[in-house]
Amino acid sequence: MRLLRSTDLALRVLMRLAVADGATPTTREVAEDMDVPYTHAAKVVAELQHLGLLAARRGRGGGLALTEAGLSASVGAVVRAFEGDGDVVECEGAVPCPLNSACRLRGALKRAQEAFYASLDPLTVADMVAAPTGPVLLGISRR
Ligand code: SF4
Repeated sequence: MRLLRSTDLALRVLMRLAVADGATPTTREVAEDMDVPYTHAAKVVAELQHLGLLAARRGRGGGLALTEAGLSASVGAVVRAFEGDGDVVECEGAVPCPLNSACRLRGALKRAQEAFYASLDPLTVADMVAAPTGPVLLGISRR
């Protein structure tokens, strides 16, 4: 199963902010730290703000900060929020699969998808920045 690029970036942004230690980097700085285009980072930041996981302050001295909910957010919940609840295969596209109405494989894949998310549910953003990841993130943010 392959995650959307925006899902991974959302988690990277949360992890970057989890080690900010009171600093409030801008979206542009976070994008540069993570080596991603600004426009992509800005879309992800807007969605994370909408989910209540980060706060953005505008103007001079403004920037991004993780909320309490962001620090304790479940990795599984973030992945679900960005991936949506669509099937891992397209059974009902422009040309629907002929097995669509009675497919055991579809149910098996759905259960596998749920198991994947469930395995990420107990992990938090704070867990993800324990060593060795946190020190690496700090090094990146000081470049
Ligand atoms: S075989 Fe089953 S899982 Fe695969 S596309 Fe068809 S309905 Fe979906």
